[in-house]
Amino acid sequence: MHCPFCAAEDTKVIDSRLVAEGDQVRRRRECLSCAERFTTYEVAELVMPRVVKQNGNREPFDEAKLRAGFTRALEKRPVPTEDVEAVINKIKHALRATGEREVNSVFLGELVMDNLQKLDKVAYVRFASVYRSFEDISEFRDAIDFLEREPRSD
Ligand SMILES: [Zn+2]
Repeated sequence: MHCPFCAAEDTKVIDSRLVAEGDQVRRRRECLSCAERFTTYEVAELVMPRVVKQNGNREPFDEAKLRAGFTRALEKRPVPTEDVEAVINKIKHALRATGEREVNSVFLGELVMDNLQKLDKVAYVRFASVYRSFEDISEFRDAIDFLEREPRSD
């Protein structure tokens, strides 16, 4: 980064240490042009956004809940667990990649349905119409729970 004193491009790190319980890196830098020293802090922006429900309530992203939803939707379908885990990681990545502190539950729901469609068409068709009549993914999960208790026609 540019030196804040003379705007020179080249600075060297003269000290680097973890701070804030390892969540930040503090770097002491020295400008190669003017020799001034300054400090930078580096933080990974990997905070999972909160989910804003249709009624305005905010809740933390719940990975276990998402996994449970997928597991139920894909029950008795030929989809390897590792594929499900890969999709869950993909969804988490997509949520973080928004860079937002909050995402709408509809956004999360569509993300889930898009990925379910790619994983297994039958599971997607089975649950897409159910989800779409619900306001958010937690209601969708509840609906899946309910359907699992109903007798199957297939
Ligand atoms: Zn400088």
